[in-house]
Amino acid sequence: MQRNLFDLTKEELEAYFLSIGEKKFKAEQVYDWLYQKREFNIANFSNIKKEIQNKLQEDFNTNLIKIERKQEDELTKKYLFRLFDDNFIEAVVMFHDYGNSICVSSQVGCNMGCKFCASGKLKKVRNLEAYEIVEQILVIEKDLNIRLSSVVIMGIGEPLDNYDNIIRFIKIINDAKGLQIGARHITLSTSGLIPKIYELSTFPLQINLAISLHASNDKLRSELMPVNKVYNIEALITAIKDYLKVTSRRVTIEYVMLDNVNDSLNNALELAQLLKGMNVYVNLIPYNETNSGDFKRSSKNKIMAFYDTLKKAGINCTIRREFGSNIDAACGQLRGSMNKI
Ligand code: SAH
Ligand code: SF4
Repeated sequence: MQRNLFDLTKEELEAYFLSIGEKKFKAEQVYDWLYQKREFNIANFSNIKKEIQNKLQEDFNTNLIKIERKQEDELTKKYLFRLFDDNFIEAVVMFHDYGNSICVSSQVGCNMGCKFCASGKLKKVRNLEAYEIVEQILVIEKDLNIRLSSVVIMGIGEPLDNYDNIIRFIKIINDAKGLQIGARHITLSTSGLIPKIYELSTFPLQINLAISLHASNDKLRSELMPVNKVYNIEALITAIKDYLKVTSRRVTIEYVMLDNVNDSLNNALELAQLLKGMNVYVNLIPYNETNSGDFKRSSKNKIMAFYDTLKKAGINCTIRREFGSNIDAACGQLRGSMNKI
């Protein structure tokens, strides 16, 4: 069966060339065409013999995912993509003074069922293959004629529920002959699949890990995030401590501010108690209100008071700059509106 050429790490491509009796450096040549020259037509790989081009064309395709719809404002562009099997996913580009970043999806839908999240309303249909994640970057770079310098895996889906493909994706975009995105410019966000956090701590690339905590005690977290009934806060904190020890990398704790749900000063104190002494920083996220209307965004004052309380308790803390709230940019929202058409 034909495979998509964007699905292969350089090592896998080297193994392929060896398996057909060719030298493994051909993998670098192919990577150079795809990721440096951005030539996706195998017949134009002019430094590769016709005979090998033909073999490559037999074994691989370079089909791209399709842009179905785009929504934009000054600081963000949001893409809805149609996959080969007519499923939809989305990616968001954000423009900063220090460069351009992209938020990619990892699955079609998500099974974690977080109550406040639009993606969670659409059950997982399947995992994305690595190439479908790589192509979110390639297609957008081509469409906007820009280069993206950082990648956050925070779109639709739970990346650690698609572990092998995510690892392959990270290797491809980090490769010195690939997209050359430095590990420190790659962030993976998870709702807290503990066994996979332990596994990720042994992954040699120094990527950033962000944990969606969103609550300061188990009762509240289990109400908001069903995953907490399987992997509770205490076990999660233990896993994060292990990760910090093994990797010596600071971890981000994400905390979405939901009005009158998790934003009291008591919650802030409880959160500070949980995180005391850990090399983490808390990112307070202004909630992007979804169509369901079940949750409201905390007021600015409440967010500031929460922030001050954490700071006073010695916890590093930032408030996320809001992106794309006027274009439904929070995860799953564009796809959600698509499904209603
Ligand atoms: N599944 C992973 C990554 C995708 S969600 C995870 O949960 O971490 C990325 C982040 O966006 C998570 O922290 C998630 O809780 C948050 N999020 C989901 N819906 C949101 C919304 N409507 N407004 C703000 N943040 C939201
Ligand atoms: Fe899935 Fe993350 Fe949304 Fe939870 S917040 S439903 S884990 S995408």
